[in-house]
Amino acid sequence: PNQNEDNLRSPICCIMGHVDTGKTKLLDCIRGTNVQEGEAGGITQQIGATYFPAENIRERTKELKADAKLKVPGLLVIDTPGHESFTNLRSRGSGLCDIAILVVDIMHGLEPQTIESLNLLKMRNTEFIVALNKVDRLYGWKVCKNAPIVKAMKQQSKDVQFEYNTRLTQIVTQFKEQGINTELYYKNKEMGKDTFSIVPTSAISGEGIPDMLLLLVQWTQKTMIERLTYSNVVQCTVLEVKVVEGHGTTIDVVLVNGVLHEGDQIVVCGMQGPIVTTIRALLTPHPMKELRVKGTYLHHKEIKAAQGIKITAQGFEHAIAGTSLYVVGPDDDVEDIKEAAMEDMKSVMSRIDKSGEGVYVQASTLGSLEALLEFLKTPEVSIPVSGIGIGPVHKKDVMKASVMLEKKKEYATILAFDVKVTQEARELSDELGVKVFMADIIYHLFDQFKAYIDTIKE
Ligand code: GDP
Ligand code: MG
Repeated sequence: PNQNEDNLRSPICCIMGHVDTGKTKLLDCIRGTNVQEGEAGGITQQIGATYFPAENIRERTKELKADAKLKVPGLLVIDTPGHESFTNLRSRGSGLCDIAILVVDIMHGLEPQTIESLNLLKMRNTEFIVALNKVDRLYGWKVCKNAPIVKAMKQQSKDVQFEYNTRLTQIVTQFKEQGINTELYYKNKEMGKDTFSIVPTSAISGEGIPDMLLLLVQWTQKTMIERLTYSNVVQCTVLEVKVVEGHGTTIDVVLVNGVLHEGDQIVVCGMQGPIVTTIRALLTPHPMKELRVKGTYLHHKEIKAAQGIKITAQGFEHAIAGTSLYVVGPDDDVEDIKEAAMEDMKSVMSRIDKSGEGVYVQASTLGSLEALLEFLKTPEVSIPVSGIGIGPVHKKDVMKASVMLEKKKEYATILAFDVKVTQEARELSDELGVKVFMADIIYHLFDQFKAYIDTIKE
């Protein structure tokens, strides 16, 4: 036995997948049961995350008769599904999400955003399980509320089992076409080696949810001991920058390791250079039972990882989501820390093509910008980039992109990933002849750009 096993932090789990596959519903479902019973079972709502203590997971999975000990203190599930929180949970280019749930609708199979999610997971080398959701939609499904999936499946008619197997086989084939091996989790002994596990679920009636919870916990504690060993060196990522009434601009962070204190001097990466400030307040929502108390937060003197926290302090207006938060320790030189904090921005900037010729790319956060740049760099795509921006596309971005009109006209293009384009920017781009392509799926930007290049060449 590893002595580290006594000192594990909670694994951090993201939910990804195509729209309407049931990501939000799955979260509600795993959160829900105990709340209805008037007993939250220690589940705590955090900023951008929900914490499920091991106790609760044990309770929810007892029908599975898993005698294995739960070694992790719990599971921290990120509440905002989608690529944004996943890509922002990063540190120096690597992912901080320990495990992801990729949700697939059993009736629809793989969809565009499923493939997008797969690409992001591959890029970050993140382990994941597939929740094959909406099994209750199989024609004739007999509800077995919150039952383990094998037990629920035994209750089904031959017809239901046949449809289930047919769809499952099709989806396994679709994954194979994406270069991913998958198998039903209870047949998959390799667990994460080369074959990813599929857990059939219903977010409505709860079948398969016990299996999913147990799989997440058992897999992480079995294969990620080192990664999950708690460290008191602060590791913290900015997930969102938000204006909150009465608090000004706040940052929502995920604290992966270490402890934060009220009054700590911190440094975060800003649009106009490093932001050095002091933590004014560490905030979390009220406990579950009191969630009706809107707009007020609990204040903490200190908070230990892993947690989702809202931080208030002065000067966050230009903070960039997807960057790391640093604490200035008593022996630290603040200048060194400032440099470290800007490293994130620098490493992304360094991906700009040295020739000065290329398209202009704009994304909502540093994390998503990084993902887009990574994609544009791949040999099959290989689109050079001459400039980058974060946030909505403004006139100044169009101006910058327009420089290419004289150099290489087809590059006088803005690839806008998951960001808005202001009315003024749109007017200016029409006037100058700068093309603006918008999409919320990375490879759709590539498709649009490629189609445009092809029409130019004709
Ligand atoms: P998201 O876009 O992935 O977050 O999907 P939602 O959680 O908002 O779910 C989209 C729709 O599918 C909603 O109408 C849900 O009620 C429904 N839904 C989600 N999960 C299930 C499920 O397991 N079974 C059934 N029958 N419907 C589901
Ligand atoms: Mg949703």
